[in-house]
Amino acid sequence: MIPSVNFHLWQPCNMRCKFCYATFQDVKKSILPKGHLPKEQAIDVVRHLAAHGFEKITFAGGEPTLCPWLTDLIRTAKRGGMTTMIVTNGTRLDDAFLETNKDHLDWIAISVDSLDADTNTAIGRTVSGRTPITATGYHTLVDRVKAHGYRLKVNTVVNRRNWKEDLGGFIRHARPERWKVLQALPIIGQNDAHIDDLVVSEAQFEAFVQRHASMAYITRIVPESNAQVRGSYVMVDPAGRFFDNAEGTHRYSLPILEVGSAIAIQQMHYDAEKFEQRGGVYDWADSAWPSRITISGEVASGKSTVGKLLAERLGYDFISIGNATREAAAAQGMDIVSFQRACLADPRMDKRIDRDFAEQCNTTDRVIIDYRLGFRFVERAYHVFLRIAEDSAVERLRKAGRAHETHHTLQERNDSFQQQFQQAYGIDYTEPGHYDLVIDVDHINTPGAVVERIVSALPRGR
Ligand code: SF4
Repeated sequence: MIPSVNFHLWQPCNMRCKFCYATFQDVKKSILPKGHLPKEQAIDVVRHLAAHGFEKITFAGGEPTLCPWLTDLIRTAKRGGMTTMIVTNGTRLDDAFLETNKDHLDWIAISVDSLDADTNTAIGRTVSGRTPITATGYHTLVDRVKAHGYRLKVNTVVNRRNWKEDLGGFIRHARPERWKVLQALPIIGQNDAHIDDLVVSEAQFEAFVQRHASMAYITRIVPESNAQVRGSYVMVDPAGRFFDNAEGTHRYSLPILEVGSAIAIQQMHYDAEKFEQRGGVYDWADSAWPSRITISGEVASGKSTVGKLLAERLGYDFISIGNATREAAAAQGMDIVSFQRACLADPRMDKRIDRDFAEQCNTTDRVIIDYRLGFRFVERAYHVFLRIAEDSAVERLRKAGRAHETHHTLQERNDSFQQQFQQAYGIDYTEPGHYDLVIDVDHINTPGAVVERIVSALPRGR
């Protein structure tokens, strides 16, 4: 069974995208003049879908945020044990909506085809057919969604107007967990009027995907060609009927509320293998990354570089005890070397820096913290330690142009940290038991690869 379902709960939309394959004019004309079920019936459909065993539900439209009872549907789905998502054009994602739904809605997928106003106007991705969302508007939108703690996805439809564009800058800013890249899909009865002007060839679609291949470092790119899409989505229409698009048009089942989901779904052709091949199964139920991650490590383990890259990868801030110490030195009108000498002479100075820095860490969220003593002072954090063999460390330092570093000087520097922390707090910071994750970085070629190792080990949970 395909474990996820898209409920197109609402036919009305405030945009006029010309490739839209969910216009449901046929549904409106034939059985549902208002374009949606009454509230109680829509809630009932969601209950049926939860009882049927779907693990994830995506609320789509039309534009689902126009539906006054969307929150009721989301809550019903969550109570039914499903992971919840909406796909939205973003026009109604204000703070009030985001605040109201944050305990029951897991994912928000925003449709972004272009940052260019002319392109969006030509596509019809405009409010009431007139006003496109500006580039700044899209940036603000994704910032707002993430600030409220939602998992973010971006959906892009590649079409004849945008296939040559570069969305890399936006994706670098948005850092969605997933970026679904779709090909404008002709569906008879839904988008016949304009789709011929917007379809792209496989080669054009592939060119768009390849142009953005480097974004794989930032997000999980999920390209879905038309061949992959057809027949691989379980969908429910605004009238509460399953439908598929395997034959290039919508085919509808009998209404779920009349015959039950088990009978209704048997009338459809869904391709579970295709669903899996297009990456339909992923870690949707897991929640956000840990909000604080500390990076500790031995000299030359690359902890600062890895910390900065990890911050970039997750879209987090980066702070370091090194910078905090430099700021403390500057505040006292001292250079860093004199300040460190003064700290050695008076360990209370070090302790003050630890105390102040710990306070900064513990009042900051979504942050990577470069701090050897993070495991000791940073609360509710995931602690990583980077370990490196002496030979590798000396070799790294030599390659970095620090030829004066030898086994001897390296050992001295590592010993000095050990002594400092033993003296101040009686702890051995290299003890693996302090950390959630210890990585031997000797044979990992690049800091980026270390980052990926960390990301793959991170637990998820709000
Ligand atoms: S915003 Fe979505 S539902 Fe509305 S017209 Fe565009 S593609 Fe269709």
